[in-house]
Amino acid sequence: MIQMQAFKRGAWTAYRWLLDVFMPPQCVMCGRVETWLCDGCVQKLPLFTGPFCSRCGRPWEGSPTCRVCQTKPLSVSPIRSAYLFQGNVRDLLHAFKYRGGKSMVRQLARPMAQAWRELGMHGNALVPVPLHPRRLDQRGYNQAEILARGLAHELGIPMLRALERVRDTPSQTRLNAQERRKNVAAAFTYTAGDLLVGKYVTLVDDVATTGATLDACATVLLAQGVESVSAFTLARAP
Ligand SMILES: [Zn+2]
Ligand SMILES: [Zn+2]
Repeated sequence: MIQMQAFKRGAWTAYRWLLDVFMPPQCVMCGRVETWLCDGCVQKLPLFTGPFCSRCGRPWEGSPTCRVCQTKPLSVSPIRSAYLFQGNVRDLLHAFKYRGGKSMVRQLARPMAQAWRELGMHGNALVPVPLHPRRLDQRGYNQAEILARGLAHELGIPMLRALERVRDTPSQTRLNAQERRKNVAAAFTYTAGDLLVGKYVTLVDDVATTGATLDACATVLLAQGVESVSAFTLARAP
């Protein structure tokens, strides 16, 4: 079993190496080679500073909270994001998740920290949304964790791996809000002892869509005595 896993990991490493040779990194915005995102382009991306729902952070005008939050508020609040998930940010997220994450975080951590401050976020600890070990093995990195680590470094707030993903949930891209909630319920367990009791915790992930994954994580943290759970993501789906 362990040999099989080592073989699979080796095969994935070789595959990624071949991809880099035959399809080298290219800036997702201007096409410049040898980088997934160049310094000039990242500065052109507008931060998402509103208008948004005061709780879930989706684009929203008028009343302080959106219709979803008025009827079925999530236990994670507020959710805020550095960028809106559209245009170049879509390509950026894809490259970040599947190939260039480790190098892109160097360019993304600073604007994320700037957005964090401009949006008035605060917290005692950053907790990345975990990947299931099987997926981590395939991908080689957890995109949420490298974001959290980069952001923690910029902000001077500790990052803590406080959650584990115990169920490998199927992809959520085709599911609606209710199906997503069901899909991720009981997918996470808490692993940080009493370190976060009474603390203000911020979950970190690459993208917020319905908030179902963040909410499932928040439910686990709150049950352990965490004082409050907010979330900060690289991008917000409309
Ligand atoms: Zn560029
Ligand atoms: Zn809302």
